Amino acid sequence: MGSTRVTAAANGAAYNASHHIDVYVNVNYGTKEAAPMNLLEQQLHYPLGDTLPAAGTALEVAPGVRWIRMSLPFALDHINLWLLRDELDGPDGKVQGWTVVDCCITRDEAKAQWEQIFATQLEGLPILRIIVTHMHPDHIGLAHWLCERWNAPLWISSTDYHTALIASQSTTGFGGEDTARFFASHGLADPESLDKIRGRTRYYPGMVPDVPRRFHRLMDGQTVRIGGQAWRCISGYGHAPEHMALSCEALKVLISGDMVLPRISTNVAVYDGEPEADSLKLFLDSIDKFRHLDADTLTLPSHGKPFRGLHTRIDQLHDHHRERLAEVLQACTEKPGSAADMLPVLFKRPLDLHQTTFAMGESVAHLHALWFANLLQRTLEADGVYRFSARPA
Ligand SMILES: [Zn+2]
Repeated sequence: MGSTRVTAAANGAAYNASHHIDVYVNVNYGTKEAAPMNLLEQQLHYPLGDTLPAAGTALEVAPGVRWIRMSLPFALDHINLWLLRDELDGPDGKVQGWTVVDCCITRDEAKAQWEQIFATQLEGLPILRIIVTHMHPDHIGLAHWLCERWNAPLWISSTDYHTALIASQSTTGFGGEDTARFFASHGLADPESLDKIRGRTRYYPGMVPDVPRRFHRLMDGQTVRIGGQAWRCISGYGHAPEHMALSCEALKVLISGDMVLPRISTNVAVYDGEPEADSLKLFLDSIDKFRHLDADTLTLPSHGKPFRGLHTRIDQLHDHHRERLAEVLQACTEKPGSAADMLPVLFKRPLDLHQTTFAMGESVAHLHALWFANLLQRTLEADGVYRFSARPA
């Protein structure tokens, strides 16, 4: 899309400023929906305009599909959750109720918002099932509480279930000594940043203190019947271990989770637990799986507003990363560089300590994409830092 490339470049500053680092990074992401649309968003269509569900209410966006928006105490200040009218087989015939998609983090404010939903929005019916798109804290945090309160099962991919189970019981994975060592090996030298990462040992369990003891496994291509409609699971990689989006072709609705967001780009990073991951390739390959969906599909993202223009958005995301990759390749061709050296190339504005530590994961992901594509070579230098340089011709 030639025209997209031009506008993307013209809009580079605004686009970069909104680069998505999920809840793990508070890169200054403009979440205020009243903020003017950026140029790329103007190519999408928001059928509800600026309408948002009021706090504690659910807004119908498609037949039997309702939108709940809960606040988050981060720069990324909200998450969208979905309430789907459902009926399941019970011992005495059909049981009417609701399936919930995603949960918010564990904190009192979120529980209070859920209580308000239970009291006023469920039409007196129970929650029958909790589906979680992936293991990040804003999505799975309250699953244990919802499942217990409603005696309802958790449906999730096996990979994300087990990763969440381990992360909720451990002090590593999203902080701590191993993470600090990993980023140091990618050139992060600032002692204050490294100390901050070392000290972050309760990050995940702080928001996900527990996960349910058992789960129902979701797999790619599987059909889940919800309220008489067939919803198909579409797996996605590069953002979470095994993210599940849900597509209802009859309704032309896609619950995209964090895989396709309208205003910000999905966080794609490499972490110390899988230090040689090619996350960016996995992510770009994954979003192409949504291309076969109807062009008119209403996409329900976890952050931002429901939108049409799924195919345009997929093109925009490819353009965005292609441009970032070209810049990183150029920089490493001029002079061998580490992931830390690439931060000013990828994020063209000052990053605070907190942002820097997490932007590192994104930087490694871009270098790895070029390394695995054989466009860069990697060298572990005498100072213990990986540097990437152009392959000799
Ligand atoms: Zn996420």
